[in-house]
Amino acid sequence: MNTQTLELSTIDRSSSESAASKWMSMGACAGTDPEVFFPHDGIGVEIAKKICAGCSITEPCLGYALAHRIEHGVWGGCSERQRRRILRARRAAAQEELVAVAA
Ligand code: SF4
Repeated sequence: MNTQTLELSTIDRSSSESAASKWMSMGACAGTDPEVFFPHDGIGVEIAKKICAGCSITEPCLGYALAHRIEHGVWGGCSERQRRRILRARRAAAQEELVAVAA
């Protein structure tokens, strides 16, 4: 993600901003118009995901978006919908674990 994207996505998260900006500058999207990563349709999502597919830091990028509950944009090669699905699956797994511990 470039600087503008970082600004859009890290409001009220200044403590993690400097750490995030280090790896973000190494992404395949560095220098790309941030609007590309905030698409308005499925075609735009696919274009952004293709750029992410050539990126070497998809894992920390996705992890950052998930950890900070970033709702908008394509991060780590995942769309908003995919990230919501991942978070739901994690919540369900955590819930199952709690039930198993309590049983
Ligand atoms: S995974 Fe995608 S959004 Fe994240 S740094 Fe790489 S190219 Fe940018």
